[in-house]
Amino acid sequence: MKYRKNLENMPSYDGIERDYRIKVNANECNLNLPPLVEERVMSRLSRIAFNRYPNYEYYSLREQIARNFSVDEEQILIGGGSSEIIEKVFYAFGGSSTNKIVYPQPSFSMYKIYAKAAEANAIPFDLDNDYNLDVDKFIATVKNESAALAVVCNPNNPTGNALTVETIEKIAKNLNDIDCAFLVDEAYVEFYGKSAVNLVSKYPNLIIARTFSKAYGLASTRVGYMIANPEVTNMISKTYMPYHMNSLSLATADIVYQMRDEFVPRIQMMIAERKRISQQLKTLNGVKVYPSETNFVLIHYDKATELNNYLESLNIGIRSFGSSPRLENCLRISIGTREENDEVFKSIKKFIMPN
Ligand SMILES: *Cc1c(COP(=O)(O)O)cnc(C)c1O
Repeated sequence: MKYRKNLENMPSYDGIERDYRIKVNANECNLNLPPLVEERVMSRLSRIAFNRYPNYEYYSLREQIARNFSVDEEQILIGGGSSEIIEKVFYAFGGSSTNKIVYPQPSFSMYKIYAKAAEANAIPFDLDNDYNLDVDKFIATVKNESAALAVVCNPNNPTGNALTVETIEKIAKNLNDIDCAFLVDEAYVEFYGKSAVNLVSKYPNLIIARTFSKAYGLASTRVGYMIANPEVTNMISKTYMPYHMNSLSLATADIVYQMRDEFVPRIQMMIAERKRISQQLKTLNGVKVYPSETNFVLIHYDKATELNNYLESLNIGIRSFGSSPRLENCLRISIGTREENDEVFKSIKKFIMPN
């Protein structure tokens, strides 16, 4: 049949999903909603007008988010996960080989795919050997290429490290001077605590993408949002179909956002667990643990494939990067509950130091 040109060669998202006994492979929250929140969500869902297109639910969530960040409602767009937000941003700034998109690597594997889908000219920018971003070189590359869009993931997935807000500002300022849009993917910001959101009012080119999927444990509902200046949100909203968000997801996210204080203790628990597990992993022979500001830890181990196979045999799912460029023999372990983390660590230790 006459499929679109290049569709056959499009790479797919390489995550393999399976129901592991201990699932620490996708940076999800391993706890379901706090009971108080769940109760409110269920009661709210029972009042949904199933026969109506979503209107009220969209505006209610948007208004709440805008109020929290002290921005205008027009500066918020809600999407089907931040995935949809990022995809639309790439789409809006792509479209031709002269529209260049610069993004770091290794980073979120979807950037490359969205750039391709948007028919943009993808310019991956290599992080250094410790996965740090050479900021001056990054800015110079974006300028030399006259890029339409530059992206950073902060904190970065899958490496875990983060840029300071000052660094984000330096990039935003320099790129604003050349009219280059700058997307900051803050999927893990709740575990880092330092956001660039307040810079949006200062830099018209800055776009922040956020998600409910990670810290707020709403991966099932697919809700994310962006904060940007009205010109940007207006242009990007042209790429959406009418009523692209469903009322059930919007109403759920609305309650979760209202009750976000209920999530603070578990976010703190996950940060404490990340620190604890990182320290423990450092005691294992031959394991390099990368610093993390997220709800996961990246490690390097020479026999990563064998270790991953062993954990699979125990029905423990972590994320192995196989032979992905720059991530050879790296494994990413999401932070689960304390019990899960203990068992994951014990199992890794048993493989590496059996005696
Ligand atoms: C998980 C993740 C996302 C996408 O999350 P959604 O569920 O689509 O909101 C975006 N960026 C990064 C870096 C992620 O790790």
